[in-house]
Amino acid sequence: MVEGKTMKKSENLIELRHIKKCFDGNTVVTEDFNLEVKKGEFVTFLGPSGCGKTTILRMIGGFEIPTSGEILLNGEDISVLPPNKRPINTVFQKYALFPHLNVYDNIAFGLKLKKLAKREQDEKVRHALEIVDLEGFEKRSIHTLSGGQQQRIAIARAIVNEPELLLLDEPLSALDYKMRKEMQLELKNMHKKLGITFIFVTHDQEEALTMSDKIVVMADGEIQQIGTPEEIYNEPSNLFVADFIGESNIFKGRMVDKKKASFCGAVFDCVDDYEMGTVVDVVVRPEDIEITAVGRGQIQGKILSSDFKGTFYIVFVRSGKNEIEIHSLKNYPIGTTVGLYIAPDLIHLIPYDNSINHYEGVLGAYSEEKGLSVEFEDFSWEVKPEQIFPDATLSGGSLTGKNGQPIRTEGIRIEASFQPSVAQLSDDAKAGVVQGKIISFLYVGDHYRYTVRSKSEEDYVVDDEDLWNQEDFVSILIPQEKVTYRIIPIKSNDFI
Ligand code: ATP
Repeated sequence: MVEGKTMKKSENLIELRHIKKCFDGNTVVTEDFNLEVKKGEFVTFLGPSGCGKTTILRMIGGFEIPTSGEILLNGEDISVLPPNKRPINTVFQKYALFPHLNVYDNIAFGLKLKKLAKREQDEKVRHALEIVDLEGFEKRSIHTLSGGQQQRIAIARAIVNEPELLLLDEPLSALDYKMRKEMQLELKNMHKKLGITFIFVTHDQEEALTMSDKIVVMADGEIQQIGTPEEIYNEPSNLFVADFIGESNIFKGRMVDKKKASFCGAVFDCVDDYEMGTVVDVVVRPEDIEITAVGRGQIQGKILSSDFKGTFYIVFVRSGKNEIEIHSLKNYPIGTTVGLYIAPDLIHLIPYDNSINHYEGVLGAYSEEKGLSVEFEDFSWEVKPEQIFPDATLSGGSLTGKNGQPIRTEGIRIEASFQPSVAQLSDDAKAGVVQGKIISFLYVGDHYRYTVRSKSEEDYVVDDEDLWNQEDFVSILIPQEKVTYRIIPIKSNDFI
């Protein structure tokens, strides 16, 4: 037992424990970030702009201090240690080389500060240049180098100090496509040669898939999934990951039998299995759908479009109400009716996320004239007493429970929940009960699924057929009668 624990400790170079980071007391980047990075790993933080990748990296590098939580390096807490006291070096997006110094002096800068003997400096600079494949560049001045060469010098400058950990903050984003591809492979090779730990930040999913041992997919300051590139691509743990990594068709489905799911109007054999009746989100990659002769696939549809993309065609097929994207090696004339076949092991099922659209509210006092109201963080509305107390009866203007005792509704905490499909979006701020900004959306077969964030930072998930834009300010219509309620039981420590 103790032995196992000791082993685990020594395997991790970095551990982030319950990291919370706020800026200016109100911008909360992350609430509770936990991560372990093993020695020698190539770990990539991947996520959309603003999700907190750079902030986490900067905390590891010592350029930001966590609001709370611990950063351990080899088991020692380094959370408040200044950057130069950490065995960590960072390569930034902008190369930040000294333009007036030549390549040698740029790379040797840190070594000179450490007052290393000239011979030792020469040897270390030569070795660093060898790693980045720029042997003999010592005397070149910075302005004679291409962007890719400058970035390599920046990397050489970081590795010459022999750090245990190299942090790379979007180091390739300023390079053109071809150079970027080349540098991706070179960085991977450098990682192998050096044998040290790399943490790399990018918002480019292809880059993350190509380079990493482990990908940490982030959204909104939270880890969505940690896994190898194959795991992240083939087994996305939620719809955000499925949508963010690669192209996906997402359909709404339901388990109808053992390893059988119904979606797109047909029943498909699957490998994943959930209890019968479970609502699932079905993820199918466009390259995993085979276009067949009519009658040979599980479903059929009509070709809507077919566009050549260099090595394959992007084909859209309408099947019932669904628009399905397929990557096909063959071209198909628009309007052709075709069959579509999906092999069981290429259908990925994600159980519907039951945690969405749950909101806590507090009941007011009941009266015959005013009825029963419930106050939520964002809005309040009237509910029918029987929606919350199905066994209650109304007598003498008050609510009476099954046991004949009057029910005191005031202060009772309840949880309201609704399905995304019952709500609707409107651009009329007064039309809905709550207003907010669209922070993300997905295309789910025949409609869009929007996440709207209110002023009080509550998220509402709404299915809507219309196309809205990210950042649109919308109001949400929630039909009161479609909402289900549950009384939140009182915990014993509520009275303490
Ligand atoms: P990008 O890919 O665009 O660089 P990111 O995922 O790296 O994005 P961060 O740069 O970590 O995201 O930013 C996360 C959030 O923290 C953003 O809302 C950003 O505006 C905010 N933020 C970052 N640095 C500061 C700062 N010094 N002061 C206030 N807010 C900050």
